[in-house]
Amino acid sequence: MLYDPLGINNTSGNSLSSGGNNSKFLDKLEVVISAIVRGIGPLFVGFAVVLIGCIAYVHFTVLLPTLKNRYYQEYEYTDSSTIEFLNLLFHYTLSTVLLFNIAFNYIQTIITPPGSPPKDNEYSTQELQYFKSITTIKRSETWNKFCVTCRLPKLERAHHCQLCQSCVLRMDHHCPWVNNCVGLNNHRYFILFLSYLWISCIYVCYLSFPHVFRTKSFIPFTTLMSFVLTLTISIALGGLLFWQLYLILSNQTTIEFLHNRTQIKRAKDKGEIYKNPYNRGFKGNFYEFFRTNHWYLFAMPILSSRNNFIKKFDITETPMLVNNNNNNDDTV
Ligand SMILES: [Zn+2]
Ligand SMILES: [Zn+2]
Repeated sequence: MLYDPLGINNTSGNSLSSGGNNSKFLDKLEVVISAIVRGIGPLFVGFAVVLIGCIAYVHFTVLLPTLKNRYYQEYEYTDSSTIEFLNLLFHYTLSTVLLFNIAFNYIQTIITPPGSPPKDNEYSTQELQYFKSITTIKRSETWNKFCVTCRLPKLERAHHCQLCQSCVLRMDHHCPWVNNCVGLNNHRYFILFLSYLWISCIYVCYLSFPHVFRTKSFIPFTTLMSFVLTLTISIALGGLLFWQLYLILSNQTTIEFLHNRTQIKRAKDKGEIYKNPYNRGFKGNFYEFFRTNHWYLFAMPILSSRNNFIKKFDITETPMLVNNNNNNDDTV
């Protein structure tokens, strides 16, 4: 009997190997573009660090001291001095907490591997021979079962990243700003980084506002720049953050959202309703994503447990088949 645990070799479809000069040219172009993006990745990270560092510097050396000066000039030796001192303490504490969380989550997003399926040395010779023997495959099957680039089985929700040159578990997207893929193990850090950065930008913008619009004297360049930068970042980041929060609370990645949209259309044409198989409801999705049983811990700067699927994956198990109910005939 044919060894075919993925049920791929007995299907009809086009060959995996790409034909034509056009296709070869596009493959080469993709390799070149990937190499360029990989190469300039550290520059993006450096730029982000300098930008955040400059805004933080202006905040701590220009904006917060202004509050301090105002406190000493206006409230010292008055009845309201205690309240104003507490107000000052609040601003310094909040600023420090925000900056620490931005740095912690940004570093963790960069250094945490997003998670990869088992490598080829974790399969038996028979299994590896089987993977090499796969010559025909359909798009619906590649989505769930097999990576045509790695020539290895895909785990559920894993996708191949051309930039990282490997499959990534629960891949959301490859982000040049963190020079890493955002996937299963670092998505939480990425979202917390975006959230803390967005809150910080709105906060700095709010503190800069009186300096820019309510002063009759000369506006320092640094204050004006910090206002313009934080306003721009908070608008741009706000859109991305709320989009990501929608995906998290509906348990989809960016890649899955595009796939699900097609499935919803197809189901609608047939008079059916497509449901995202991973959606566990608002609460379930929240706790699953932030990997905690206590809501008050979700935004804390704590290290999440990593899930690298180190345990050898048994390809005869069925998790890859869960979503394989789309019988379309698209081929790769
Ligand atoms: Zn792959
Ligand atoms: Zn990647």
